[in-house]
Amino acid sequence: MQLDDLYQEVILDHYRHPRCSGELAEGEALVDEENPLCGDHLKLAAHIAGDKLTGVKIQCQGCAICTASASMMAEAVNDLPLADIRKKSAAFLAVLRGERAASEEELGDLVALRGVAEFPLRVKCATMPWHALEAALKRLTP
Ligand code: ZN
Repeated sequence: MQLDDLYQEVILDHYRHPRCSGELAEGEALVDEENPLCGDHLKLAAHIAGDKLTGVKIQCQGCAICTASASMMAEAVNDLPLADIRKKSAAFLAVLRGERAASEEELGDLVALRGVAEFPLRVKCATMPWHALEAALKRLTP
């Protein structure tokens, strides 16, 4: 498998048109994560309404893998119950660690990133948005 194979259409589409994306005002971001290995930088804002996470907004400056992962994550978890988000996050991270196979039913568009598991140096690019999400959930649900 070539690195080019990673940049499938769905990844490129999310990279070019990130969902739930925009400038975050000073103090609006819950988390501000950087991946020094690649230069990826992600800020994330969200809040909780009832048992759901809502208003998910990202500001990402990064490579295609990181930006696409952040965009797909934002779209996948916005307005989703927290319990489902935790399940999705655990499933995605396990796939990227190569611990289990990807299921499209469970991960939706995110299965496009499964090939990243073959490239250890890029795994952090794909997982960083999810670690940022988990950090945000910790801040929102003390
Ligand atoms: Zn990256």
